[in-house]
Amino acid sequence: MARITIVGAGVIGLVTASALARENEIIIVARNLPGDGLSAEWASPWAGASFIAGGTSSRIEQQMQLDTYSQLSHWAENYPESSVRLITLEDFFDFDDNSQIWWRMLPEVTYA
Ligand SMILES: Cc1cc2nc3c(=O)[nH]c(=O)nc-3n(C[C@H](O)[C@H](O)[C@H](O)COP(=O)(O)OP(=O)(O)OC[C@H]3O[C@@H](n4cnc5c(N)ncnc54)[C@H](O)[C@@H]3O)c2cc1C
Repeated sequence: MARITIVGAGVIGLVTASALARENEIIIVARNLPGDGLSAEWASPWAGASFIAGGTSSRIEQQMQLDTYSQLSHWAENYPESSVRLITLEDFFDFDDNSQIWWRMLPEVTYA
């Protein structure tokens, strides 16, 4: 068992800590912690908690988003107590070329 220190208690720090805590001793060091009052010093308390693919042309970042989608779908379908839900969303784009929608291979994506 390794002892790992994570700096930051936003969504990135806490998800990382949660994953690593199964096999390691975790210490979290952060200026702002969940439960502290709202401030502009960090982002996570303000987030809308939605996951929407897009916004990058990097293949590595696209794959990271697909992996994230796969994990969130798994939780939504198999662990309703996780509070993760799939909801319908309509996006409107001002281009005709669907090839720019790199996430179009996802089974839920349809076009109108
Ligand atoms: C209004 C709003 C709505 C949003 N909606 C969404 C959404 O719907 N979906 C989505 O995916 N994203 C959304 N985002 C973006 C999302 O909130 C951020 O991408 C995400 O919260 C970043 O998490 P983080 O852990 O990287 O950083 P943060 O949440 O900013 O956490 C940073 C952590 O590092 C600590 N820290 C920083 N500097 C130091 C230091 N020098 N020493 C010690 N500790 C330090 C902080 O105290 C904090 O604990 C939204 C953002 C905003 C502002």
